[in-house]
Amino acid sequence: MRPMPDWLKPSARVDLALVLARTRDVLRSDLGAPADLSAIAKFARRYGLFAAKDPDGFIALSRRPGLGRRLLALDAAPDEHVMPLGRLLGYPPCCCRAARRVGEDQLDVWAARPRRHIGRYRLIDVSSYDTGEALVSHIPCSAACRASLKIARTLAASDWSPTRFSSAKRLRSGRRGCRPLS
Ligand SMILES: [Zn+2]
Repeated sequence: MRPMPDWLKPSARVDLALVLARTRDVLRSDLGAPADLSAIAKFARRYGLFAAKDPDGFIALSRRPGLGRRLLALDAAPDEHVMPLGRLLGYPPCCCRAARRVGEDQLDVWAARPRRHIGRYRLIDVSSYDTGEALVSHIPCSAACRASLKIARTLAASDWSPTRFSSAKRLRSGRRGCRPLS
């Protein structure tokens, strides 16, 4: 991927790649460094995307105008919204249901639980998501989630695949464990 602005966190680059590979329509992230909406919107336009930002420093980049604002409003709402938020973010229904069962306040603990990905399912290992080396940006419902694997394969086959992650050496290494996703 081209050089990225410092306000876009490495993890958000995975999300951006997934939007550009058309596996989903919108991403959400918090800012890695201060930036105003005009700079974010200028960056988004380069990729044919629309930008939104909320007062808490969360941003959304979307394929459709208004979608990012809708997402940020839903995320800021006080009521339980794991399922609709996950679906709006393009996460597989099985993974959204699993996240809802776990509960929003336990998601980080759930994500940090060690998982053993075998064979091709190493593609859905999100243990290095924070450093931008992942092919999915959600917490898969299991270490062998087929819907997540489909997303990972779509990104891997696209022009937007994170190159470092796609090295054979890395895939063979089979790292375990997950860091919390943002
Ligand atoms: Zn799943």
